[in-house]
Amino acid sequence: MRIAFTAVLFCLSASAMAHPWDDAKLPPDKRAELALKAMTEDEKLTLVAGQFGSMKDGWEPPAEARMGSAGYVPGITRLGIPPLWETDAGVGVATQGHTRDKVRERTSLPSGLATAATWNPQLAFAGGAMIGAEARDAGFNVMLAGGVNLMREPRNGRNFEYAGEDPLLAGTMVGNEIAGIQSNHIISTIKHYALNDQESGRHSVNVQIDEAAAKQSDLLAFKIAMEKGNPGSVMCAYNLVWGDYACESSKLLNDILKKQWGFKGFVMSDWGAVYSTAKAANAGLDQESALQFDNQPYFAEPLKKALQDGGVAKARLDDMVRRILYAMFANGVIDHPVQIKDSDYMAHAAVTQADAEEGIVLLKNQNNALPLSPAIHKLAVIGGHADAGVMAGGGSSMVYPIAGNAVPGLAPTDWPGPVMFHPSSPLRALKSRLPNTEIGFAAGGEEAVNLARQADAAIVFVTQWTAESIDASLQLADDPLVAAVAAVNPRTIVVVESGGPVLMPWSGQVAGIVEAWYPGTSGGEAIARVLLGEVDASGRLPATFPRGIEQTPHPVLVDKGDVTYDEGAMVGYRWYDAKGLTPLYPFGYGLSYSRFKHDGLTATIDNGKLKVSFVATNIGERAGKDVPQLYVGGRLAGWQKLELKPGQSQTVSVTIDRRLVNAMNGVCEIKLGTSSRDLELTASVRVPPTF
Ligand code: BGC
Repeated sequence: MRIAFTAVLFCLSASAMAHPWDDAKLPPDKRAELALKAMTEDEKLTLVAGQFGSMKDGWEPPAEARMGSAGYVPGITRLGIPPLWETDAGVGVATQGHTRDKVRERTSLPSGLATAATWNPQLAFAGGAMIGAEARDAGFNVMLAGGVNLMREPRNGRNFEYAGEDPLLAGTMVGNEIAGIQSNHIISTIKHYALNDQESGRHSVNVQIDEAAAKQSDLLAFKIAMEKGNPGSVMCAYNLVWGDYACESSKLLNDILKKQWGFKGFVMSDWGAVYSTAKAANAGLDQESALQFDNQPYFAEPLKKALQDGGVAKARLDDMVRRILYAMFANGVIDHPVQIKDSDYMAHAAVTQADAEEGIVLLKNQNNALPLSPAIHKLAVIGGHADAGVMAGGGSSMVYPIAGNAVPGLAPTDWPGPVMFHPSSPLRALKSRLPNTEIGFAAGGEEAVNLARQADAAIVFVTQWTAESIDASLQLADDPLVAAVAAVNPRTIVVVESGGPVLMPWSGQVAGIVEAWYPGTSGGEAIARVLLGEVDASGRLPATFPRGIEQTPHPVLVDKGDVTYDEGAMVGYRWYDAKGLTPLYPFGYGLSYSRFKHDGLTATIDNGKLKVSFVATNIGERAGKDVPQLYVGGRLAGWQKLELKPGQSQTVSVTIDRRLVNAMNGVCEIKLGTSSRDLELTASVRVPPTF
């Protein structure tokens, strides 16, 4: 009897655990090693070469790929290793290029920059968890999300995908998003490593920067995001850095990423970023992402030849595969196979709306023009297709929304388009909340000016479409419209939907300015709620808004040869501070509908850590959200997002990251304020020489 029972148990565990690496109790490195040992060379070569998941120049992805997706890497069925199904990107599940199938219609978060503007890491995590769930439900186990390139260049066409100009803010927000995505047992891919800070000449420019300065700026943003999010994968960028393509840079990949930072996952190339076999493999590239995008396949067959002729050591191929398997085991990709099913889109709409609401930044509010009173008689809503929806950014990250493009047909309709408007109309959202107000809409021109003249307030929506592969102009086409409306209505409020900073020559003529970024698939609702004060205006700028392009470090964009970042680590507000320039709106700035007071700033060294504390109080009449910010040595070193009722106080304690501590003669000075330019309190602490 006992023998028979043991035999049954053995059979059960043998069938449940077909391979030794299936044992989830083993550490991921051990499991990766066991699976690697069982592979033939051809199987290893399979895992390091990806394919495009959509149609391109006669290429059709295999049936097993997810049609219309970014990428597909075949699995090893014999060994129970599933394929990698890869989808873009940071705001949700995107559809790529041309597909025979219907596009995937999904929830879009607000832009990465909008999420950064919330200064609320919990929202970044929740957004990541939501889009990661949609990726998983759509059959993807890799999300190409976690764009953390610093905003050195306000014209960068992809700024909307990233998280602004400060390494601590960007790294914290993107790291939290990655952690949220990976909480779904899928891999997230931080990108674009590194210094891919402009789109002009992105395949050919060679970035020159002092290495120490890079480690205090762009690379620090990656490092912080990786510490917080622990992504399974890193995507190397298109551009060259220090003379080598980023995907062929041993210094970036082998030395900094893998040796100095101890990264254990794998490096995948951007689509079309590989230019060699042995050089790339030996520099630390672990996977060629889409053979169809490079000039020719470089891993696959050419890598097999390089292994034969010794150009690439077999041990290096093992290292590549071990890293891919490690990321799969460590993130639960193998233990929790993806299954295609419906997502809860109603619940997800609430997640993206909460994110959009907190990311909206109130830049100007003269004579309390906002919030709008429900008693307002006549309201003019003008421009920006506000009757139809809200704008989204273009390129590979673009999410097709449920119910489709609200303004189809705008050029460019093909890559990096189509120009997308999510069908969440601010006009509709305002009308449903203001039943007693007469609300008119005009797209522009004479009609808009006449409407504004007769209204108690005019809200002008202006848009700046930015997209991957092209850099943008900071000048808005609608500037004359804003000026014309402001000339006839003293209560003109401008709502800006933009990829990043824009110029505002009319800022002195209007009563209110609201930066709404690309606010995602519930953006119209979010804008209406902020305009009406149903929620506080609580976003703060994650990047400086310049007065003119001549204030920026590189007024002329270089699109070939060397791009030299001689401003080093003085990115964004640090540049303005160093040069004594007054921007239009500084980093960290944003108004609330309430008012806050800060006092009791103290700093101590406690157990080898620099700890700062202070008290924040809501001294206004409304509940609101405060974002007190700490600066050390002129750079952001910590912050808190607080929700406070009228009269409520809260003690805040922040531990400062050692890398941001900057002591002069052994004394570290900490400043507290509401933007990089509005610092009210100072505290000093003596730090030990060993700090
Ligand atoms: C972009 C990546 C993206 C990839 C796959 C490239 O054009 O630079 O960010 O993940 O395409 O679509």
